[in-house]
Amino acid sequence: MSILVVDDSQDDTQLLKTMLQSAGYRDILVADSADSAYRILGIKDASQTAKIDLILLDVLMPAVNGIQVCRRIKSIDRLRDIPVIIVTVQSDPVDLQLAFAEGAIDYIRKPLIKVELLARVRSVLRLTQEINRRKAREQELLQVMQQLEEANERFRELSSQDGLTEIANRRRFDEFFEQEWRRALREKHPVSLIFFDIDFFKAYNDTYGHLAGDDCLKQVVQVVKKTLNRPGDLLCRYGGDEFVIALPGTSADGAERVAETLRTKVEGLGIGITISLGLASCHPGVNIAASSLTEAADRALYQAKQDGRNCARLVQVDDPTVSVAPTPTS
Ligand code: GH3
Ligand code: MG
Repeated sequence: MSILVVDDSQDDTQLLKTMLQSAGYRDILVADSADSAYRILGIKDASQTAKIDLILLDVLMPAVNGIQVCRRIKSIDRLRDIPVIIVTVQSDPVDLQLAFAEGAIDYIRKPLIKVELLARVRSVLRLTQEINRRKAREQELLQVMQQLEEANERFRELSSQDGLTEIANRRRFDEFFEQEWRRALREKHPVSLIFFDIDFFKAYNDTYGHLAGDDCLKQVVQVVKKTLNRPGDLLCRYGGDEFVIALPGTSADGAERVAETLRTKVEGLGIGITISLGLASCHPGVNIAASSLTEAADRALYQAKQDGRNCARLVQVDDPTVSVAPTPTS
């Protein structure tokens, strides 16, 4: 524990020092003026800063008095928390009030009484130690909270991601699609969906094994990711070998073009895999539910499978007749 005694009277500083040392406080620094105190505290030169745990500050000093010194110390961030005990011959309550207003924590009256001095010093130091302990605990708590926040963020990411292909999962798709549907409704933009499913994938797994099947899913995802070039598009694994692509702001024509590119690229992978695609497109309206677009795309995919696979089919939802039409590219 390091204590700074600021007092212009040599007799008083000597007495204070002796009393404190008798109680085991070894590290005692003495300043005989405000200037000398500022030097020790590094107010004049920050590189000279000594670590101080408590300041005993005389009120009556020539030039700059104790209350002014206290104000200066408390105005500096790194020094603000050092407790200051005022040492005074004055018992004028106005002076004491001023000292407390400037941030002093306690006061001791001159002539000094050893028991009183040591009791005040001990209790102030104990209080500061407790405050420091709490601050350290608060800091630890803040760090733990920050780590928890980071873990939560990671968890959120993972919970919206498919583990195998590392693209968005169905949960993320539901969230995203709901949001995009509302945006399209507001901005009167078309929305399209492409569901696609690997043809005879069960047979692929049976022939080449499950690991090769996993690898095939990843290759399909890579080729699809490369094909989608609009930042607003979202590719999700809907489940098993079924995927969905949300294409906000894309009309049926655009979705058909994307679908045909995907179909040829997957076929072109040369691993004996093809995909069937179901497209649905509409201009969202208040009388159409978002789910009607996913249902339509699902129906279109079913139709593509029925029509022999390795092809795309489209359902135009906002067409009142809701018909299934073969795409020109199939
Ligand atoms: P269809 O042309 O009618 O789609 O025939 P299919 O055999 O692909 O039938 P379906 O889509 O119903 O079969 C899905 C198969 O996909 C079942 C399973 O063997 C395989 N599968 C689903 N998830 C995974 C996966 O994570 N890894 C692997 N390797 N295979 C999977
Ligand atoms: Mg399949």
